[in-house]
Amino acid sequence: MRPVLTVDPDAIVANWRELARVHGAPAAAVVKADAYGLGAAIVAPRLHRAGATFFFVAQLEEGVLLRRLLPGATIAILNGFSTADAADYLAHDLAPVLGALHEIDAYRALAAREGRALPALLHIDTGMNRLGLPGHELDAVASDPGRLAGIDWLYAMTHLVSAEAADDPRNEAQRLRFAQACARLPPMKRSLANSSGIFLGEAFRSDLARPGAALYGVNPTPGLPNPMRPVMRLQAPVLQMREIGGGESVGYNAIWVAARPSRVATIALGYADGYHRAASNRARVAFDGMRLPLIGRVSMDLITIDATDAPGLAPGGMVELIGPAIPVDEVAGWAGTNGYEVLTSLRRRAGCVVGPL
Ligand SMILES: *Cc1c(COP(=O)(O)O)cnc(C)c1O
Repeated sequence: MRPVLTVDPDAIVANWRELARVHGAPAAAVVKADAYGLGAAIVAPRLHRAGATFFFVAQLEEGVLLRRLLPGATIAILNGFSTADAADYLAHDLAPVLGALHEIDAYRALAAREGRALPALLHIDTGMNRLGLPGHELDAVASDPGRLAGIDWLYAMTHLVSAEAADDPRNEAQRLRFAQACARLPPMKRSLANSSGIFLGEAFRSDLARPGAALYGVNPTPGLPNPMRPVMRLQAPVLQMREIGGGESVGYNAIWVAARPSRVATIALGYADGYHRAASNRARVAFDGMRLPLIGRVSMDLITIDATDAPGLAPGGMVELIGPAIPVDEVAGWAGTNGYEVLTSLRRRAGCVVGPL
């Protein structure tokens, strides 16, 4: 009697293939944050067997875990390099994404100590102002290419600020800034688009796209139909059903009051499972082809549903919270966030099933 998270690796593989097809060039797989909450150990080996050779994670520790699963893949660490981590980078053959002069200098020193060119990516900031070489540091390496020597540069990359807003002029501005920056550097392959960037057209094609969210079914083209397949389903069972009279309230703080005699289903899932409390009194769940309103507060381990119109719902019955009938982006709308946060919030307290939805 607990939530069940089903993850469909075949659907993730299908999404990866579709993204590479739309990109018209290779695509990596971004599997940071445990594959956006769905389980890197489930997702990454399947993608690798399907032909993905390049994987991104955020943290060194994620890369160390991933290396055990993917002995043959290239694994890049988005959050960069510090000398304190040198031994792990070497032992597990990980490639840092270097986005600051001090990181480049430290990594070159390591390569010199090792007596060989070590792999890395060069992150150029074109507007995010978060990670990546800022303008003056780009000037420094462009005017003195020796500062890039001794490293096996796999790709130059940049990251789009608002790729999901196709008409935002920042996209084109960043694309141009990236092209101009690369022209000032020694020749290397380029990596530009994230999930949404892949859908910005041919001009945003590069040698390697870096999709994450779209692999996991988040719509990379908000406002347009979702071109990706759903890859997960979160379900939870009914613990109890009860009849209440009109005027009675349900749950903490009585924020929902029945306008008519109602049947209330209490479901075994709450914010401790990663279901957002902000969706209180707003969300819908699916049962037997119907969408039923979540009523009252989302509490720690329980939610309540108005099942008056679903006479077939009974204790033990499963409702869908997120999945093919309740898209992750719609849940995000109810919770006032995005699909990325909905997925990465999921807790593995849920039982996990791997297979078709
Ligand atoms: C997370 C991340 C991605 C993947 O972005 P999505 O929008 O999830 O496709 C790509 N590149 C960088 C630098 C990232 O941090």
